[in-house]
Amino acid sequence: MRVPIVVGNWKMNGLCASVRRLAAEINEGSRLLNGLEIVLLPAFVHLSEVHHILYSGVVALGGQNFYAGSSNAVTGEISAPMLVDMGCSYVLLGHSERRILFNESHVCIADKLQVALAHNLKPIFCVGETLAERQSGATEAILAEQLQAVIARVGIDALASVIIAYEPVWAIGSGLTAKPEAVQKVHHYIRSVIARFAVAIAKKIRILYGGSVKAENARAIFAMPDVDGGLIGGAALNAAEFLAICQHAIATSDSVKN
Ligand code: PEP
Repeated sequence: MRVPIVVGNWKMNGLCASVRRLAAEINEGSRLLNGLEIVLLPAFVHLSEVHHILYSGVVALGGQNFYAGSSNAVTGEISAPMLVDMGCSYVLLGHSERRILFNESHVCIADKLQVALAHNLKPIFCVGETLAERQSGATEAILAEQLQAVIARVGIDALASVIIAYEPVWAIGSGLTAKPEAVQKVHHYIRSVIARFAVAIAKKIRILYGGSVKAENARAIFAMPDVDGGLIGGAALNAAEFLAICQHAIATSDSVKN
């Protein structure tokens, strides 16, 4: 059975005091939750603070990015061993904000994925189409390209330790959410692309949905058979809302998802 997972991507939000408060509230509330993985992705500068708060609980910590090169002479960057040293066990890769704002290519993302795995960081690998790509009917082609480019570079076996996050770019932070049935169709397609390389990995890999998920829409999306949880941006900045989303992930996980 695929254990559901809910990931809170805090992006560039918060200052020390508010981040400490948010982490403590989520840590406290999560003590009552069983049967799912919860991951928080604070900004790099808050990792240490949040790590100390989460230390005694069940919520795991992850980085939002890192630099995958082998030289240490890279001013302003963060390495995979640094994330591990801060208590991270997950890392987000290929988020559309990084693809668009920082021109991250398929090769760059594949290399990060490989380096993350070499340091025992679980990659949360984001894929998704823009609105123009969706409107031109190119969603499946774009997703296949994003997945196949990485598989070609790292090999299919690497995906056994990866979590995929399907995030339609037009739904991120926009308040627009894909309809549950449309999400299911895309998640099923993603699984079918992976199955072309390895059926067993396709069955086991967890595929999260991200894009304006809130407590009020999470249940219907998470109930879809190929949806294994969510990548949450804005709604992860409110502990009660985020914990309610986690509860929906537990309530909708059942033996159908295996
Ligand atoms: C995200 O940025 O990964 C995201 C899903 O954001 P939001 O939930 O705010 O749409």
